[in-house]
Parts: sequence; C-alpha cells; structure tokens
Amino acid sequence: MIFTLPNLPYNYDDLEPFFDKETMKIHHTKHHQTYINNTNEAIKKLNKFKNISIEELIIKLDELPPKTRTFIKNNAGGHLNHSLFWKFIKKNVKINDEIKKQIEKNFNSFENFQKLFEKIAMNHFGSGWVWLIKKNNTLSIISTKNQNNPLMGKKHSEYSGYPILGLDLWEHAYYLKYKNNKKNYIKSFWNIINWNEVNLRFNLKN
Ligand code: MN
Repeated sequence: MIFTLPNLPYNYDDLEPFFDKETMKIHHTKHHQTYINNTNEAIKKLNKFKNISIEELIIKLDELPPKTRTFIKNNAGGHLNHSLFWKFIKKNVKINDEIKKQIEKNFNSFENFQKLFEKIAMNHFGSGWVWLIKKNNTLSIISTKNQNNPLMGKKHSEYSGYPILGLDLWEHAYYLKYKNNKKNYIKSFWNIINWNEVNLRFNLKN
C-alpha cells in the first residue's frame, strides 16, 4: 500500500477570507504531497510497514531502522498531521453543546480556552503544531515541534495524548496571507473550526 493525498471535503476557496485559496492549494498539493512522497519512498523497501495505516506507522517508530527513523517520523508525521488538519477546518459549523461543555469544564470558560490556545500557539517558537488533546478524560492544550504528533508518544514527541483539534504553526500555513502576523492567523482559526470533527474525536477516546 502506498499513501495517497486525501481529497479535501471542500474547495480551496471555501475557507476564504480566513484561509486563502492559494495557501490552501499549495499547502495541500505541494506541502502535504511532499510528505506523502517522502514517506512512500522511505518505506518502499521496508516490507513490515507496507500495509499499515499512517496512525499505525506513527506509533511504531521504534520498530523502524534507526537510519531512516527520523526521516520517516518527520514525513509520516507530516502526512498524518495534515490529514487531520483538513478535517479540523470547515466553514459555518456551530459549536455543539457536548464539546462546549467539556471545554468549559476543563478550562473554566470557552474564552479561557481560546486565550490559552492562542498563548501556547504564540509562544511556540519555530515550526510545529498546537493541539487540543484528550488523555485520561482530561483535555489539555500543548504544542509540538516540527511534524511531531502526541500520538507518537512521549519518547518521540513532547507529549502523549489523543489529538482532537490541531492548528498548523508552520509559516507555510499562513505566510502568503498573514505574512509575519501569526496572531491574526491563529485568531482566524476560530471562524473555521469543524466542531463536529472535534466532538467526534472527543468521543473516540477516553
Ligand atoms: Mn503544513
């Protein structure tokens, strides 16, 4: 099995004016595609990893040959993170009561949650991701470097947990439209969160 670029459930310009058409197109067809190509090339000769899903691959990093482990971690991480990211965004999705209550329970208020999410995203230096994760029935906000994902576990990522929402903090995700204004990019995210997906993932794991 080789990994392939997932189709987006919307058009490149559907998230305007928050995420612009050109960025969406390059992000999907160039950046994401490159992570996929690199992963496919690297696992081509590793029979053991031929028929596994990207989620399985990401939790089996220890079983990879040390020589290619970091390369596969970065690129398979890139494939997984972007596959998740496209599902986390959609226009005109109203937050539903269940996930809203859970957020209020864990962060005191929805406004506090937003403030903390923005703060952690802003304080993340360099490329990476900010995540809302679930672990032992508790929600928390964390950030990871490069293409690390909390599903990789603590040994390979900074945190372990189940991501239920995430935002790409690489400059390629916002530079065309927002230039150096990372804050406005982060704030724009609130307009296009697919809360149905967040709620769905919240209910998948304890
Ligand atoms: Mn990206």
